[in-house]
Amino acid sequence: MSTAGGIIRALNSGVKHLAIRRFTLRYPEQKLKFVGDGFQFNPDTGVGIAGLRGRHILYHEHCTGCQLCSVACEGIAEAIGMVKVNETWKQNKKAIMPQIDYGKCVFCGLCVDACPFYALYMTNDYELSSFTKSALIYTPAQLGIKPKISQDVEIKIDDRGATHG
Ligand code: SF4
Ligand code: SF4
Repeated sequence: MSTAGGIIRALNSGVKHLAIRRFTLRYPEQKLKFVGDGFQFNPDTGVGIAGLRGRHILYHEHCTGCQLCSVACEGIAEAIGMVKVNETWKQNKKAIMPQIDYGKCVFCGLCVDACPFYALYMTNDYELSSFTKSALIYTPAQLGIKPKISQDVEIKIDDRGATHG
């Protein structure tokens, strides 16, 4: 790219952001409210649905215990372990489901991509800090709970970045 072209491109990028209202989030008094759900993946179309990559949600009734999420994570963070569950679903004969260690998870979303049964998505829950390592390990039961998000700053993400309403 020529020098003039580079300058025009830089100016164009700057101008595009002039009208965006900037803000400082006063966390934890103010919290983010992301529009829509977290990151999802549609195995039928092979297309990911954009969203925040926070804590996962596991839909027990869809999970077959196939372990593909765990295999996907093996080369990344080894954050997923398959554990026994009390529920016995027809489609989950081994009665195993993923347990996720958020002390290891890097929130890449590959486990969500790998799940062929619409059982594992990510949510907008980003408040996961804890004083103990053990509290960072989420059992299938904990992963099955939809996070309560009562937050007061609505964040919209588009190609110009994050803005609030
Ligand atoms: S999002 Fe976390 S649990 Fe899933 S594959 Fe990535 S590191 Fe593993
Ligand atoms: S969450 Fe999905 S990929 Fe993981 S064991 Fe269950 S069905 Fe298989």
